[in-house]
Amino acid sequence: MIDNTKISKFAISVITELQKNNFQAYLVGGCVRDALSGIEPKDFDIATDATPEEVRKIFKASRIIGRRFKLVHVFNRSELLEVATFRSGKNGAEDESSLIKDESGKILRDNVWGTLEQDCYRRDFTVNALYYCPITKKIEDRNNGLGHIHKKIIVSIGDPQLRFEEDPVRSLRAIRFSNKLGFKIDNQVKNAIYDKGHLLSSISNARLFDEFCKIFLGGMGDEFSHNVMLQALRNTDDRIKNDQSVTPGFLLAALLWPTLISRCTKNNEINIRKFFRSMDGVLREQQKLTAVPRKFNSYIKDIWVLQLKLHSRIKSQPYKTIRHPRFRAAYDFLLVREKASSDKNGLGKWWTDFQKNDDSLRRSLIARMNEKNDADSSKIFGFYNELR
Ligand code: ATP
Ligand code: MG
Repeated sequence: MIDNTKISKFAISVITELQKNNFQAYLVGGCVRDALSGIEPKDFDIATDATPEEVRKIFKASRIIGRRFKLVHVFNRSELLEVATFRSGKNGAEDESSLIKDESGKILRDNVWGTLEQDCYRRDFTVNALYYCPITKKIEDRNNGLGHIHKKIIVSIGDPQLRFEEDPVRSLRAIRFSNKLGFKIDNQVKNAIYDKGHLLSSISNARLFDEFCKIFLGGMGDEFSHNVMLQALRNTDDRIKNDQSVTPGFLLAALLWPTLISRCTKNNEINIRKFFRSMDGVLREQQKLTAVPRKFNSYIKDIWVLQLKLHSRIKSQPYKTIRHPRFRAAYDFLLVREKASSDKNGLGKWWTDFQKNDDSLRRSLIARMNEKNDADSSKIFGFYNELR
């Protein structure tokens, strides 16, 4: 049973108004799922059989948004609701607004209206496909979403392999909901995350960033963490544009870096022993959450350890560092960290120059560091605002 006092009054008034105009209207998605799982719902999504234009006509304070997925924002002074028209999830006539997929099966546009029954099947997970009418207090449940909330499990609607091809972001959503609700991920969904995870590379930077923030910023909303993620995603995006290879390992190394660093720093100083001891723990915890294939672990740890090495630039150390097989990825990540921090101490540029394969330049770069190091005996690691 859902307690209507947990539901936004504004959402109930919009639903009442739609029903008065002889349309069907329900609360749907996250707010119903969360309310039933004992979590305070934060945003309220409404599903209706009214078309966006019909919704727009009923509410003065509203606007139609989106092209790929048209919906209506209905707002008052303090709240904004998303009102989505039921979709059939089927290919419509070959007009501008129909369901269009690319050659990999990804949905490019979905604006074919349908019935509530059809709308249930185009949603991602069973727990997200519950429709609640706050007036009759009845819940429409075509996919056993209630059963799965009870069992605490994330189950795909339809074959997850196909569903993740249609929209690869669903794999990230599964992980996020599992984490947020403390639900298990059904095995078929897990397999599809492994099999179709690579398709995430075709998703726009903006959409991925939104989703990554929702996952990773659960408790660490500080500026540096935020910037590292943004820079890492930009870097990945640029590499794709330039036809360079990308690996989830690189992204994960970047996304988990703020967590690792926060475990081993105190008063702006890094504790190297703790750094080494924390690496496996950070990976293990992430493993539970995102099923990171283990083959990435050594790659990620190499990138992390090389960050320490990249900071020490005296004597023969830089020559060893540059010969490491993961040097290039580590250097790329160093640039990401540098961009994300507000203090630029020239470390990235130093390594850019050192790679120029010019022996006398290399010697002078190291000589400068040796002098500097004598002058200032404390070992400094990290960029400003990186160590908290
Ligand atoms: P939260 O608001 O906590 O992030 P949510 O489930 O409400 O979770 P929204 O992104 O607000 O997520 O989407 C609302 C609903 O729309 C979802 O519950 C789901 O039914 C549907 N939905 C959203 N994104 C997708 C998607 N990529 N594929 C299929 N259905 C989706
Ligand atoms: Mg929502």
